[in-house]
Amino acid sequence: MIEHFIDNQFVTSLEGGSFESLNPATNRPLAQVADGTAADVDRAVQAARRAFDAGPWPRLPAEERARLLRRFGELILAHAAGIAEDEINDTGVPAAQVKVGAVPRAAENFTFFADMATQVGGEQFPVEGKFSNYAVRKPTGVAGLITPWNTPFMLETWKVAPCLAAGNTCVLKPAEWSPLSAAWLGRIAQEAELPAGVLNIVHGFGETAGAPLVAHPGVQLISFTGETTTGSEILRNGAATLKRFSMELGGKSPTIVFEDADLERALDGAVWQVYSLNGERCTAGSRLLLQASIYDRFVADLAGRVGAVRVGDPHDPATELGPLIHPDHWRRVRNYMDTARAEGAEILVGGDRPPEFPQGNYFQPTLITRAHNRMRVAQEEIFGPVLVVIPFQDEAEAVALANDIRYGLAAYVWSGDLDRGRRVGERIEAGLVWVNSHNVRDLRTPFGGCKMSGIGREGGKYSFDFYTEWSTVHVALGEHRIPPLGKGGTDGR
Ligand code: NAD
Repeated sequence: MIEHFIDNQFVTSLEGGSFESLNPATNRPLAQVADGTAADVDRAVQAARRAFDAGPWPRLPAEERARLLRRFGELILAHAAGIAEDEINDTGVPAAQVKVGAVPRAAENFTFFADMATQVGGEQFPVEGKFSNYAVRKPTGVAGLITPWNTPFMLETWKVAPCLAAGNTCVLKPAEWSPLSAAWLGRIAQEAELPAGVLNIVHGFGETAGAPLVAHPGVQLISFTGETTTGSEILRNGAATLKRFSMELGGKSPTIVFEDADLERALDGAVWQVYSLNGERCTAGSRLLLQASIYDRFVADLAGRVGAVRVGDPHDPATELGPLIHPDHWRRVRNYMDTARAEGAEILVGGDRPPEFPQGNYFQPTLITRAHNRMRVAQEEIFGPVLVVIPFQDEAEAVALANDIRYGLAAYVWSGDLDRGRRVGERIEAGLVWVNSHNVRDLRTPFGGCKMSGIGREGGKYSFDFYTEWSTVHVALGEHRIPPLGKGGTDGR
């Protein structure tokens, strides 16, 4: 049983409910999971509140908090094999990508934000001889952290680490389709001797566990990663209690390849950027904009590569593409194939279940051509191993197509002309742009999207901007004039 984690103890649901987490490779049950309701959320928020109001955590010197969080990072690495095993079983993401990517990155999230905690300070605003004004960052309170199923452990730690580094306490609500690896955060909190109530975890569904967390008056901050429509609903539900929100939402990011690019590297980047993580990646380059002059040649090479992406058991180290997360999601991705055909596009590669995998949620790596940018398959986030290719004539058209979308999370520009790379990159409406690179993260930079891809930025000091409260202190240095009301004078201005 995967239980909630409240006040440093694993506990069952107060109403006794549980649900099954499925193995996406077989759709057989992996584990029973405590099904949280408003009562469990309230219990967790109260624990977090006590830890914030009366516990040591917010008042510890930053260096002390950093020491504990570095220990957290070390323990993630010490338990890496077990965490990876749970994550692979629960998500179907290939072992190579979990072991080399997600788990070490989760540890890095802790060490990185531990270091940041000791570096982000306040600011001084001296007023010549009259005032010493300064602003300090304070922990804000209790944060609700709500995460999706695609790379659960990495995304949970991406929120928990800066939230705790800034001195807050939190209640994490992991996604219901991938709850297993979050239990390691509870185990590690016990092992690291984190003070009780600082990190709490409540499992359950969005409507029954997520929504009460968003509406809870004891919670000040909501950091949410998930779908755009869910983000809108959360904003509405949190309005009455005036929460501060960070929203990391969906995307349909363009990869733009110009004729002067290093086409071999561009091909590597384009393939990785949409078929890794089973295509379930928020920053997937799922719209490939190709200059018309290289279209035929590039698509021929691409089709060969896509057809050769190795689908298989996610535990097999050679597997490049595992099963999708859940049968419901498989059907959603499969439905887009009918949509593509109905719109007149061509499914050049894939488009269905691979015949050699009759069970589980396997989906072929898929390439859609003869598409244009206004088709639904080019506008909507499919969140699977599906790439849509669209031709363009020149730079102006590439930029126009890239921006003709409601999303604005990421973009990838490939060109041999760095000036053009930068120029195009800066004209694209996206929070994150890579020129001649796939998604190589720099944790110091602001991460997040514009348009319908999100509100706010996290990463580096930007995470601290979200998780801390500024308090400005004005200290008078001399005796500046105070208007003397009630003294009978005439200068009471
Ligand atoms: P989702 O929105 O369905 O669910 C995300 C989380 O929200 C889950 O924990 C869910 O239980 C919870 N939730 C659902 N309804 C809720 C409600 N009313 N109140 C509170 N919580 C609620 O998203 P998903 O399907 O799990 O994840 C896929 C989506 O996440 C994609 O759109 C993807 O692009 C996005 N994503 C974005 C980023 C980013 O950084 N921008 C990163 C990863 C994933």
